[in-house]
Amino acid sequence: MNDDDQDPLQGAGIDTLAIRAGIHRSPEGEHAEPIFATSSYVFKDAAQAAARFSGAESGNVYSRYTNPTVRSFEERLAALEGADACVGTASGMAAILSTAMALLKAGDHVVCSRDVFGTTTNLFGKYMARFGVDVTFVPLLDMAGWGKAVRPETAMLFLETPSNPLCEVADIAAMAELAHDNEALLAVDNCFCTPALQKPFELGADVVVHSATKYLDGQGRCVGGAVLGAQALMDEVVTFLRTCGPTMSAFNAWVFLKGLETLRLRMEAHSEGALAVARWLGQQDAVEKVFYAGLEDHPGHALAARQQRAFGGVLSFRVRGGREEAWRFIDGTRFLSLTANLGDAKTTIVHPATTTHGRLTQEQRDAAGISDNLIRVAVGLEDTADIQADLARGFAAL
Ligand SMILES: *Cc1c(COP(=O)(O)O)cnc(C)c1O
Repeated sequence: MNDDDQDPLQGAGIDTLAIRAGIHRSPEGEHAEPIFATSSYVFKDAAQAAARFSGAESGNVYSRYTNPTVRSFEERLAALEGADACVGTASGMAAILSTAMALLKAGDHVVCSRDVFGTTTNLFGKYMARFGVDVTFVPLLDMAGWGKAVRPETAMLFLETPSNPLCEVADIAAMAELAHDNEALLAVDNCFCTPALQKPFELGADVVVHSATKYLDGQGRCVGGAVLGAQALMDEVVTFLRTCGPTMSAFNAWVFLKGLETLRLRMEAHSEGALAVARWLGQQDAVEKVFYAGLEDHPGHALAARQQRAFGGVLSFRVRGGREEAWRFIDGTRFLSLTANLGDAKTTIVHPATTTHGRLTQEQRDAAGISDNLIRVAVGLEDTADIQADLARGFAAL
């Protein structure tokens, strides 16, 4: 029997949602999702135009407001994260900016992890501060410090877990409790795990942000982002986006939409490869220390095992020596991509102290554990034996 009232995707698993959620077929009956490459939409008569503009009738008006391809991406990602609503943005930074602009006001206070993406630090520390939002940065794992930093005006806690590049793991449920005890929102940047590995809303988070540029795309093609949360919060984010403009393009939404279809498969393959590479690195004489939460001796291992479905694709390690040895190692590899990007089918390698974390002072880097001999690898989808063989060329160059 065909019960038409029942959503056929109700209770569906992650792979089904990744492939089937957010599909709206046009009368043409296309099977693959189309790219609606249009800036505006036509109305059937003047009355409909007026109704669309006033909001009396829902429907498309202009692609800064809504676009069907972007909407498909938003619905699919919302289904995967288990969120009420999702808003696509022009980049991951646009997602974080939109979250801050829509949900904070002058006089508010934010507690932000010290160990977030560097540009996020600048966004809060430089721009939000300029508009009267006070920000306190606390090391991710300093729970007592987070507790002490919270005050009556605290409106938001912002963190990223696992952290980049040391793979520190924060207890999202404990952070949500701290936020809610103070009537603040918990916002989590879920870029490194994606909903395939970690579901922040199930742990109490109020807002999730993404750089879709990374694993959601998965092949390093487009820049984009997303904000997710309760409808009332996302209504504020949408209003900000419509007014200020950092919306997602239809083409990029289409690329991300297709990326989501293989997200779980890719995240598990990235995780499996990273675990094998991390274990192998741990056996090398020239390695001082490996940072990957999948290793049993990592301080965040038990928490990550509880909170995540797998440990993700990013790891880092310290080679014996200093900056010179780290650079020689990197330059000794042959096919790994020397780039600061991650979340790609191609394995990437980078020297954080002189690139992603190069603008920090030596003192800040020391405090955050970004030593000169630290190398970050974002394990891609090549054969693990070949990734190890290329890393072995790095060791041979030392
Ligand atoms: C890359 C990244 C961002 C910023 O995203 P863009 O798409 O580059 O704007 C934010 N957070 C994390 C964790 C990232 O890795």
